[in-house]
Amino acid sequence: MLHRGSTHRLVFLIVIVVIVIVAHLAAETHASSGDRSWDYIQCCQPCFSDCARQSDKPSSLSVLDSLNPLRWTCMDECRYNCMHACTEAHVAAGQPVQQFHGKWPFTRFAGMQEPASVLFSILNGMAHIYGARRYAQAIPEQYAFRRLWIGYAVVNVNTWFWSAIYHTRDLFWTERLDYWFATASILCSMFCGLVRISNVLHRFRWLVMALMMAVFGAHVIYLSQDRFDYGYNMTASVAVFAANAMLWVLWCAFAPVHPLLPVVEPRPLQIDPQRAIDGGSYPPIPSLAYRRKALAAVVGLGLCAAFEIADFPPVFGIFDAHALWHGSTVLVIVVWYSFLIDDASYELHLARSRSAKQLR
Ligand SMILES: [Zn+2]
Repeated sequence: MLHRGSTHRLVFLIVIVVIVIVAHLAAETHASSGDRSWDYIQCCQPCFSDCARQSDKPSSLSVLDSLNPLRWTCMDECRYNCMHACTEAHVAAGQPVQQFHGKWPFTRFAGMQEPASVLFSILNGMAHIYGARRYAQAIPEQYAFRRLWIGYAVVNVNTWFWSAIYHTRDLFWTERLDYWFATASILCSMFCGLVRISNVLHRFRWLVMALMMAVFGAHVIYLSQDRFDYGYNMTASVAVFAANAMLWVLWCAFAPVHPLLPVVEPRPLQIDPQRAIDGGSYPPIPSLAYRRKALAAVVGLGLCAAFEIADFPPVFGIFDAHALWHGSTVLVIVVWYSFLIDDASYELHLARSRSAKQLR
């Protein structure tokens, strides 16, 4: 059990982090000074004209296309080369590095636009696969929340797949899918948390799921309009993210000993004691001390989000703050699945104890 004072300090810390993120993102305009600069425009215009002339010779493009699976166009190459030429000139003149078309000037690797974010997205997806496999091996099928958390892993693997695609190649549709599935992951986390923690919501889980899907559908429809509302998307995502974090912090602090909070009151085991103890290789977890892992994951995720605040140009042309945010969440995922295994093991341990008492 956590000390009440330290819990309040942690809640306060998370609230502060979330408020700072929301304030930062709300202030973000997505305007880029680099692509409006005179030298960039002067560099791109003749290059675009050359591209237009080359497009009159389709036979010369067929070989290029075969060596260009990510379909970088001639005009993309103009923007890329001019962006780096202008950045070098700006830095040589002692000016700060600027963004172009909403992005920092990244150096491509194997055709990938943001190679570090691609690598870290893949690692996040692999962390979910690794965690889900460990969970599936350790926890028997009879445990009520096994399918819930396996489904959670599937949703998140899909999200990180599209994150890797988007950071490989920033296109209209890859950006939309990255944003939409990121929101789907956040709503899925909220759903899993609510159903895991609350008896009442667990009973009405299909209704909760329908509500979450309706919210997601409305979100996607709203963001499918002509102008993508970045501010709304981020504010909505951070609000649900924060609510989910609060939910778990409260659970870590009070469940299952606080009688006045119906949301976090002790939940009866969702296990048939006679069947649940068979199968799996779950470790014996006799106490609720494992809740510290949930707290570590939630607070860790909040601290990782601080990278999103410290928006800085990519180090070595590759590692920007967003890439480091993706890189830092890999460890959080590992801790989270360790918590989920302990959580299920604890309930299975209780079921085993209850079963033994019934047999006596
Ligand atoms: Zn990303």
